[in-house]
Amino acid sequence: MSQFPPTPDSDPNADLDPASALINLLNDAQREAVCAPLGNRLILAGAGSGKTRVLIYRMAWLMQIERISPYSMLAVTFTNKAANEMRARLMKLLRTAENSGQPRISAYDLWVGTFHGLAHRLLRQHWQEAGLLENFQIIDSEDQSRIVRKVMKALELDEKNWPPKQAQWFINQCKDEARRPHDLDNYDDVFERTMKQVYKNYQETCERNGLVDFAELLLRVHELWVQNPHILADYQRRFQHILVDEFQDTNTIQYLWLQQLAGAQAHVFAVGDDDQSIYGWRGAKVTNLHHFQQDFPEVQLTKLEQNYRSTGTILEAANRLIGNNPGRLGKNLWTDGEEGLPISLYRAFNEYDEARFIVERVQSWADEGGSLKECAILYRSNAQSRVLEEALLSARLPYRVYGGLRFFERAEIKDAMAYLQLLANEDNDSAFERVVNTPTRGIGDRTVEIVRQEARRNGISMWRAAGQVIVSGELTTRAANALRKFQEMILQLRENTGSLPLHELTEQVLENSGLRAQLKKKNTEKDQTRLENLDELVNATKHYTDESLDSDGLSPLQTFLSKTVLDTGEESSHSGENGVQLMTLHSAKGLEFPLIFLCGLEEKLFPHSMSLQDENGLEEERRLCYVGITRAMRQLYISYAEVRRLHGQENYTRPSRFIHEIPAELLEEIRLRSSNQAVYQAPKAPAFAMDSGAGKFRVGQRVMHPKFGEGVILNSEGSGATERVEVHFGHQGSKWLVLVYANLQAVE
Ligand code: ATP
Ligand code: MG
Repeated sequence: MSQFPPTPDSDPNADLDPASALINLLNDAQREAVCAPLGNRLILAGAGSGKTRVLIYRMAWLMQIERISPYSMLAVTFTNKAANEMRARLMKLLRTAENSGQPRISAYDLWVGTFHGLAHRLLRQHWQEAGLLENFQIIDSEDQSRIVRKVMKALELDEKNWPPKQAQWFINQCKDEARRPHDLDNYDDVFERTMKQVYKNYQETCERNGLVDFAELLLRVHELWVQNPHILADYQRRFQHILVDEFQDTNTIQYLWLQQLAGAQAHVFAVGDDDQSIYGWRGAKVTNLHHFQQDFPEVQLTKLEQNYRSTGTILEAANRLIGNNPGRLGKNLWTDGEEGLPISLYRAFNEYDEARFIVERVQSWADEGGSLKECAILYRSNAQSRVLEEALLSARLPYRVYGGLRFFERAEIKDAMAYLQLLANEDNDSAFERVVNTPTRGIGDRTVEIVRQEARRNGISMWRAAGQVIVSGELTTRAANALRKFQEMILQLRENTGSLPLHELTEQVLENSGLRAQLKKKNTEKDQTRLENLDELVNATKHYTDESLDSDGLSPLQTFLSKTVLDTGEESSHSGENGVQLMTLHSAKGLEFPLIFLCGLEEKLFPHSMSLQDENGLEEERRLCYVGITRAMRQLYISYAEVRRLHGQENYTRPSRFIHEIPAELLEEIRLRSSNQAVYQAPKAPAFAMDSGAGKFRVGQRVMHPKFGEGVILNSEGSGATERVEVHFGHQGSKWLVLVYANLQAVE
């Protein structure tokens, strides 16, 4: 994604002054927005119309023409990746400005980040006023879920009747709406009453342990500003220019946050697209686009309709698909670029076939000189990535997975991180519980329970409670000794936190805790990978040194712990930087790739079964599909599998309704008869389930053959006595069979 003016040597506007060079790279509507006088503005525009480009150019314009200091700008983007890119671009510009005598500014002075990242920064600076412990830690959704479980267990709520996920969702929803337990009604309903209690106890646990979840970051800043108007006033004075990308996905608390910070004076420049609102399920309010126009004074509206990203065909498909959603703000995207290739549609017989097809296409792209990182495979659900990864691995194609089971979510990494967390904050009960007996060191469940009760009775952390029960005589001598040894080990490590560089400290943690030794002892292939992951963790900590710190006086350890949690969903293992990009549709937002594979377009998978319960859900899925299609610049492949094993169950599927919503003339169906022979068919409406054998058999059906065993029907031709079917039999490959002779039996 190149959002900024090219460097002067490749720039056709090289002879122009920087500001003119800037605006020569914009169309009329974009230019109007970038060069507008100071004020509030909403850019409402479709995918690929240059919203993000306009936002970044606006910052450059403000600096170069309005002479506004970057100190007084705050920009919110949706991902850390986008924020980093924006910061790098701005730094480049600033260096040019420095050469012309302007004061030096460091990357740290730029407030560019995600809502969560910026909130974290504010809370580190004002932890005291925000009522937090100085060494507070951020927890991810998995840690949150563990704490919710524990709280529910203490309340004796049975998980079967009270799914912890639901409680977690309830808590986050309340926080997103800025509601604390005491703001909630005294519900009559037993469900709501119980949820309120869980929320209350959960929050108390977090406060005691110095833990802050994602939703809390935002709510806490909101409350900080409400309760400390002088702090807010300082920031209001400073941030006179606020720029927000992906505005359609702001939720209630984020919107409140913007309103507070902007106050009566700041100028807000917001860009968004109602058709790309895909976080409704997490509380995003697309209505914020309307509210913005009412709540902020004299908002000027700009619409952009020219798309610069995709071919005419891809754009037409996206427009037609989204046209099925009612109540849109209505924009029609057009392009003066080429019509491009038709969209390829592949009907796979199962997910392995789908993966094989995609890999084959990626391979030909690479053979023709294309770069792998220009290809992205997008899917609805993280669970789909495994089969794709396997296929890429066996084809030896490098790849990178965003989200999914992130590096920092692997069990062995979580264990090591929990030790580090405990070194940073001994009151972190989650970390304590995770490592107190990992690896096993003779501290059994009973001992842990005694510590837990002692902690609860005295309202203290488990670490402190452990110190008390060691001497209270409640434990057996063996248990007390084991616990004492554990505490001594931690204390000894902690002594080194100040003096050792972070990577050496981490190395010591792995050695002294016995985490490494335990894996070495078992030494299975999996353990080998786990050991490599631990090495990778040590590697990752090497970047965090005192010298590299540009932050609020945080130690390298604290910076590392915060950053790894905040980078959620975007980091992955470090290999494959230049490989094929795999990610969910949600994380593809804002990005673009020459070659896109949209896979798993099946009813109940995409649109997702959870969304089919109401129209809003379905419309959000359609917007997600629109986001997916509009990521493609040159070529788009859509695929679905007729049989898919997901969450341990094999199911026959139906093609997604979204395929039907794309006009047939834009699609070209591709059928593979054997693994290396592609048969291209003339464009026509996709053919779905076919009846054959007098209705007895259909494509996708499982059948049993006396000799070859079980298989799946891939194709059928002819009728009556000449009817034949192509059946895929696992290892034996595919075979054509004449039905009247084949003696096939349907498998239920
Ligand atoms: P999305 O809705 O997906 O976030 P967007 O509206 O933010 O998209 P950008 O990512 O800013 O769109 O731009 C899409 C592509 O079009 C980028 O590659 C960008 O560099 C290019 N582009 C935008 N405006 C112009 C222009 N005036 N001339 C040439 N290219 C442009
Ligand atoms: Mg964008």
